[in-house]
Amino acid sequence: MTQYRNLEEYNLEITDEVKSRYSSIINEIGEDLNRDGLIKTPERAAKAMLFLTQGYKQDAVEILKGAMFKESYDEMVIIKDIEVYSLCEHHMLPFFGKAHIAYIPNGHIVGLSKIPRVVDVFARRLQVQERLTNDILECLNNTLKPQGVAVVIEASHMCMMMRGVQKQNSVTTTSGFRGQFEKIETRNEFLKLISSKLS
Ligand SMILES: [Zn+2]
Repeated sequence: MTQYRNLEEYNLEITDEVKSRYSSIINEIGEDLNRDGLIKTPERAAKAMLFLTQGYKQDAVEILKGAMFKESYDEMVIIKDIEVYSLCEHHMLPFFGKAHIAYIPNGHIVGLSKIPRVVDVFARRLQVQERLTNDILECLNNTLKPQGVAVVIEASHMCMMMRGVQKQNSVTTTSGFRGQFEKIETRNEFLKLISSKLS
């Protein structure tokens, strides 16, 4: 699927533009752009940045709709420990961790591999963990129209760990619940099922 292809088709104009900005940054911080190890760095950094933000060009709704199947199963479906790598929009430094997602089908199930892809579509943008949680929640809720959906994300933020307060081991947990998961029993069942993994 085109949405998920590793972004090999870098737009040349944009890559060149970003590359030249990285050259300026490397220069401004006092490095020597002509040093052996740095010669190709602006281009590599530009491609890395474009890869890490490719979510802007991807459509999570399309990904889900491409793999929805009629099915009468109506118990909780949980996908635990989905790796999350994103960039905080305040410092453009990584935050990363795990997402735990559950939904209760309402006539349709979705191919299980699509849920981690939806996570990637929203994670590969400039984000805050709170909005990332909500983007995933709303997308699943509006597209699958399930009886309920739950999203929990636990993540470590490099902007906290490497700078600022330098809290090396702090983990931020965010969560969102819709439908059946707004009921305390259902929510507790979900939290119990993922809790062995919560920090
Ligand atoms: Zn930050």
